[in-house]
Formats: sequence, structure tokens, C-alpha cells
Amino acid sequence: MKYCKNCGAENNDNNIFCFNCRCESFNPEQPIPMGSNANMTVPPAAPAALPVYMMSAKPKPPLGIFDLLTILGFVCAIVGMFSISLILHPIGVLTSVIGFVQGKRFRGLALAGTVISVVGGIIYLVISLYNNGLLPEWITYGALH
Ligand SMILES: [Zn+2]
Repeated sequence: MKYCKNCGAENNDNNIFCFNCRCESFNPEQPIPMGSNANMTVPPAAPAALPVYMMSAKPKPPLGIFDLLTILGFVCAIVGMFSISLILHPIGVLTSVIGFVQGKRFRGLALAGTVISVVGGIIYLVISLYNNGLLPEWITYGALH
């Protein structure tokens, strides 16, 4: 037996070319150590790289304080639609925006909380002003009024 100098494959003594990599250099003593960059086979480090890949593909970061703020903001946005909009919707905007910028999860929820709070707050403001006669008359006119 002889060993390929290029890839380390074991070859028959009468081989002219390495059956594995087709090179012509043989070492009669021992195979070259693995790790040569000329090695054509799958590197042995591949299985060790798998856990690293799995760690990087970890689906969800841990629940943080800003994610809780996001949830609080969304709850304020919804509850504010039914009562004390004056207080809940400003809180909803604030916590949802902070949750969106700083949070690692629930960014869609934070966006929804922001939009709902802003829209709800504006609706509340318009209705309140209208009910108290604080809106100018021309704002409440329709085209066919
Ligand atoms: Zn070879």
C-alpha cells in the first residue's frame, strides 16, 4: 500500500494516479495528516459546525422588559377604545413605540398597538371636542350639508 501525498487516500502499489484525486505523488510511509487544504473530501469539522448553526438559528430571543411593554401598550390600545382613552391611549402610544424600537419580539404587535392608540386617541379627541361644541362649525359640515 501507498498513500497519496495530496489527499492521503490509500492506493494500491501499482496505481499510477491516486484513485481519489488523480494526483501522481505517493508517500510510501504514512498518509498525510488530515487538515491539508488540498483535501477534496468533506472536512471533519462539519459535524462540529452543526451546533453552532443551530445556535444561530435559535428561533426566539428571551422575553425582555421591552416585550412586556409592547404587550402593555397593546392592551392599553384596546382597552382605551372602550374607556379612559384620555389616559390609556397616550400610554399605549408610548409603550408601543418603546416596545417597537427596543423589543426583540412582538414588533408587529407593537406596531398595531401604536396605530390603534394613535387612531383611537384621535377619534376620542374629535368626538370629545364635537360633543362639547369645541369644533368649528365648518369642520363638521358634509359636502351636501
Ligand atoms: Zn489523492
